Amino acid sequence: MSFSIDHLGIAVKSLAQARKFYEGLGLEVHGEETVAGEKVNVAMLRAGDSRIELLEPSSEDSPIAKFLAKRGEGLHHVALHVDDLSATVEQLKKQHVRLISDEIKIGAGGHMYVFVHPASTGGVLLELVQEEPKGVS
Ligand code: ZN
Repeated sequence: MSFSIDHLGIAVKSLAQARKFYEGLGLEVHGEETVAGEKVNVAMLRAGDSRIELLEPSSEDSPIAKFLAKRGEGLHHVALHVDDLSATVEQLKKQHVRLISDEIKIGAGGHMYVFVHPASTGGVLLELVQEEPKGVS
């Protein structure tokens, strides 16, 4: 098992506004998209081997809108890269770790992910990510 920080998710009110700062710092945006299932507009910025994911609510009932109303802008989640997500999820279930949803979801880029509830992680929403399986077409 090799773990690494895949990305940090930051909740922002305005993607355009937040992009200005990070792009001004010299980071490059690699794609901006709307993830309908999560009701967010996302901009990914590459930072070395890791990334920063800016999250803007795409509707008023978005989980990010709720987060902003409650906590304001800020760090929303930390994403860890894992080799085998389904094995990791099985392992966590056996350990009675609280997951946000029991099912592995597929993100816009084809990657697989699952969220672990902050109650189990030390107060941080944790996303576990696995790249799109290689060699599958
Ligand atoms: Zn994320």
